[in-house]
Amino acid sequence: MNIILLGPPGAGKGTQAQRLVERRGMRQLSTGDMLRAAVKAGTPVGLEAKAVMERGELVSDEIVSRLIDAELTAMGADTGAIFDGYPRTEAQAQALDEILAAHGRKLDYVIELDVNEDALVERITGRFTCANCGEGYNDDYKRPAQLGVCDRCGSTEFKRRPDDNEQTVRTRMAEYRAKTAPILPIYEARGIVHQINGMAEIDQVTQAIETILAG
Ligand code: AMP
Repeated sequence: MNIILLGPPGAGKGTQAQRLVERRGMRQLSTGDMLRAAVKAGTPVGLEAKAVMERGELVSDEIVSRLIDAELTAMGADTGAIFDGYPRTEAQAQALDEILAAHGRKLDYVIELDVNEDALVERITGRFTCANCGEGYNDDYKRPAQLGVCDRCGSTEFKRRPDDNEQTVRTRMAEYRAKTAPILPIYEARGIVHQINGMAEIDQVTQAIETILAG
């Protein structure tokens, strides 16, 4: 199964993708995570992407499509893919069609997380993750049970993304509206888009996704 999770930054795509990974043994393909890893490793892709990401703008279509192609090549053909944060432009949507065809895969579902933008800014600027295991937290919605200690792995190191500040978040939202939201009709024409309320509780969103995938 191959699915796209679509929605503006902070809609909960990463959280839901992680749950699908745990429940269904699928693989999360997050171009944002891949780019952050490239920036951290100081690869040529990382060097090119760093400043663009810090401004909240989009990295080139060629770079991200190449990253996705490489990940699919490295994956077992039977493992389902969850595209998280890709495609983000019409050119990427076209590239994804070609990449999937080349790998003998087809797109089953596009799940759009419907959210209120103003609430998202608060959600994003409050978020942080465990530096060791990547578990996600939020100042307002989900603090560690014991202050300063990760619930999952016990680490006391946490980190925040440099692009999770209000100004950059506003740019990321504008990029979503201008370049990503317009790709929805491509998938609507194929009858594979399902909208769900991304402002619901995390568990309810997961349940809604499971219902769609079971259908
Ligand atoms: P994300 O983790 O998905 O919020 O992505 C973080 C940042 O990485 C974005 O604001 C972009 O600068 C860049 N990025 C991630 N995925 C893509 C993509 N598919 N196309 C272009 N830029 C991307």
